[in-house]
Amino acid sequence: MSHTHCAELPLDLVISGGGMAGSMLAYVLLSQNPGLKLAIIEQSAELATDQQPSKASFDSRSIALAHGSVELLQQWGLWQELQQSGCAIKHIHISDRGHFGKTYLNAADHQLSALGQVIEVEAIGEVLWQKLKAFTAQGRLSWFYNDAISALKPTAELQQIRLRSGAQLQSKLLVIAEGGLSPSRTLAGFELKSDDYQQHALIANIGLAESHQHKAFERFTPTGPLALLPLTRQRYSLVWTLTPEQAEHHLNQNDTGFLAALQQAAGHRAGVFKTVGQRVVYPLSLKRATEAARHRTVLLGNSLHNLHPIAGQGFNLAIRDIYSLSVLLQQHQTDAGSYALTKAYQQARLPDMQQVILYTDSLVRLFSNSSRLMALGRNTGLFALNLCPELKQAVANQAMGLNSIRQLKALLTRA
Ligand SMILES: Cc1cc2nc3c(=O)[nH]c(=O)nc-3n(C[C@H](O)[C@H](O)[C@H](O)COP(=O)(O)OP(=O)(O)OC[C@H]3O[C@@H](n4cnc5c(N)ncnc54)[C@H](O)[C@@H]3O)c2cc1C
Repeated sequence: MSHTHCAELPLDLVISGGGMAGSMLAYVLLSQNPGLKLAIIEQSAELATDQQPSKASFDSRSIALAHGSVELLQQWGLWQELQQSGCAIKHIHISDRGHFGKTYLNAADHQLSALGQVIEVEAIGEVLWQKLKAFTAQGRLSWFYNDAISALKPTAELQQIRLRSGAQLQSKLLVIAEGGLSPSRTLAGFELKSDDYQQHALIANIGLAESHQHKAFERFTPTGPLALLPLTRQRYSLVWTLTPEQAEHHLNQNDTGFLAALQQAAGHRAGVFKTVGQRVVYPLSLKRATEAARHRTVLLGNSLHNLHPIAGQGFNLAIRDIYSLSVLLQQHQTDAGSYALTKAYQQARLPDMQQVILYTDSLVRLFSNSSRLMALGRNTGLFALNLCPELKQAVANQAMGLNSIRQLKALLTRA
């Protein structure tokens, strides 16, 4: 895809950041609104291989998509092509290393064929890339690669955007989807709350001796939670929370040493680990903006909420950001950046985000602590989940993203 510097007329929307959230938003809005024109600004260079929009976002990670998110992807015409790369989670097994509490969640108990799906983000990138190419060819989507916003000047009617390359854009709405670090978020005057968890996540794909039978494992170890998510081709996607020093140690171990250490931490219920792919380490923090919208500007995806991956909620939340903006744009077609739209977006996103942050943050704090008292609480908690179907239903609904989508639908119809 080539640079297209043709945007002199005001655009409906400019998206800064062509990663998972920004590209998916562009696809959803362009496919739902035939007259819409938009531009994406992406700081990384266009790839010579013409394969993916942004290697920075579409890396070797896998993500768990909640049942509710899969329903939205189906509605948007994306799941049909993605499903061949997805692996269903039919059971979730939660346990605490060295303690007796365990709980199981089964899709069948909720009359579902799957609790969620695990998918490699590269597969999402490829599908979006192919779809966006068609819009670029039609002249409805312009890309500004290797570029970034250098100045913003909002007026009553428009957002005036200057880029590092010297290009100038005018847009009714600016969507900032630049990931967790997002310099434009600061330029636009948003404030950020930030907590560093002092933990790192080690990510890798693990090959198994036998089938995983669509089971996901979440195990709480003294260093933090360890999650194994079922992937296609008899593999698990591993997210292992560790101290920075331990993460460094396991990153540099040889494959045999690493697999032995992982097997010991995960236990044998998850199966016998045979191979390990590329290992990558991410520092973990919780960052969230105090507002979701300002004048003619909204935040989306990790620029709005950057969560600990313990509960696999980050991109699911981004999918609901996209859903909210798409519904609101249908309701406010004459002006994509009107006060009514940005206000309704903020009202739809903040409560959902706060709920997920509270849920994720309590899990991190509860399960990253090795004190006896906390372990007792955890085990009682896990037992309680098994014994009390209502509590278990609440946890399953949160994991499947069902509560949030129900609440959102109600909120957006009132907007
Ligand atoms: C280890 C790990 C495991 C995870 N597992 C799950 C999971 O199981 N389930 C789940 O729902 N979520 C999960 N997540 C979260 C998920 O990965 C994020 O929600 C998702 O990547 C957010 O996408 P994004 O597009 O907002 O940000 P990013 O992926 O960070 O993309 C931002 C894009 O903006 C570009 N950019 C940056 N700055 C600028 C700029 N100034 N100008 C222009 N472009 C810019 C970047 O190059 C990039 O292309 C996980 C995250 C991690 C770290």
